[in-house]
Amino acid sequence: MLNKQYLSNNIVYFIINNYHKYLTIKIIFIFMKQLYTSKKLAAVQQLYTLEAPYQSSRSNNDLFISAMAEITTWHYERNPFYRSLLNSRGYNPKNINNQSSLAELPVIHANFFKKHSIWSIKDESIKHIFTSSGTLGQKSQMAYDHASITAPFLMLNRYVSNLGWHTPNQACNYLLLSYQPTSENQTIGTSYTDHILCKYAPINKLTYALKLTGDGHAFDPFGSIQALLDYAQEGLPVRIFGFPAFLFFILDSMKKRGIAPIKLHPDSLVYLGGGWKNHADKQIHKISFYQEITKQLGISDLRIRDMFGSVEHCVPYTECSNHHFHIPVWAQVNILDLKTLKPLAYGQEGFLNLQSPYSTSAPVHNILMSDLAVMHAGQSCGCGISSDYFEIIGRASTKKNRSCAVAASEFIYPN
Ligand SMILES: [Zn+2]
Repeated sequence: MLNKQYLSNNIVYFIINNYHKYLTIKIIFIFMKQLYTSKKLAAVQQLYTLEAPYQSSRSNNDLFISAMAEITTWHYERNPFYRSLLNSRGYNPKNINNQSSLAELPVIHANFFKKHSIWSIKDESIKHIFTSSGTLGQKSQMAYDHASITAPFLMLNRYVSNLGWHTPNQACNYLLLSYQPTSENQTIGTSYTDHILCKYAPINKLTYALKLTGDGHAFDPFGSIQALLDYAQEGLPVRIFGFPAFLFFILDSMKKRGIAPIKLHPDSLVYLGGGWKNHADKQIHKISFYQEITKQLGISDLRIRDMFGSVEHCVPYTECSNHHFHIPVWAQVNILDLKTLKPLAYGQEGFLNLQSPYSTSAPVHNILMSDLAVMHAGQSCGCGISSDYFEIIGRASTKKNRSCAVAASEFIYPN
């Protein structure tokens, strides 16, 4: 008999309710009072008021370049490290006025922020410091002021609305494949995002896959399975958010224990995030995993989506109906040659370079990730979205360079 371990912790509900209020207040009042304009970042402000995630046009592209020019100047004027970086390359932020001048803007490697805290704002303006959730490796730390934290959640709001997932009148049961909150782990980026996602439909019941124990967190596959079985009986839509590796292991445990497939409510959904490694360098194969979710939980492929993002670059890229990461209006993505860092053509493998001007707190608007990726022409997807999409191929990693997913998977397969 499996243990029934629903979470009914008032503190958790308090936190979620307060995040809900935080978002409501910040988005409606602060954003509407022109979050970036007060900082003389009018183009940045205008860019994040674009509501539809995909609206490729010349004017939106020009707006993006103007916004990148503004944010580059912002950091250049306030951040001595960034100013000396640009000066050492002979790069003048005032010269950003077209795509080719933007292409020359020096990148900063995401790993740089694992060792250095170089903020462009005063300490009193910092509202949150998030860390990636590495347990053994180096953690990235990233500071956010009001603007920098609000813009990513506005983008998330727009993705969720675009998918029709904002259902304030339909309560749901939740399985969060992430850390049960403590006073400390609220600063872990992935846990924070999972809690935020609970604001789009009222919570009926909530179960965490990573439960608090006396001395930390422990993965609770059987509590998670029992929750899913109970949710199936109850019949409300179920929302599953968080690390793919945990759902992979939960489904695997169901099969090994001979538990028959269940049929969750047709409006149930799975929104994953945090990386696709299950242990060390083993990659979970996405599409066959999605097929397994449909088979074992009865959730349609259309309602299974992955999100890609990081604490250094918080644009929440969300899969289309064909499971591709198309580039939204708020970002530009390039694939750079491993040696020369020059942009590559479609289909060529290189480093992932992500651009978005949302952060006034740190110079992360043009960042080089450790991920290896290729770019594809938007039309080749066939989902109807015309902007290009990128595909993550792997990670140029060492043991020291650990993702949230690998760190979290240590709860599944302890070394
Ligand atoms: Zn597509």
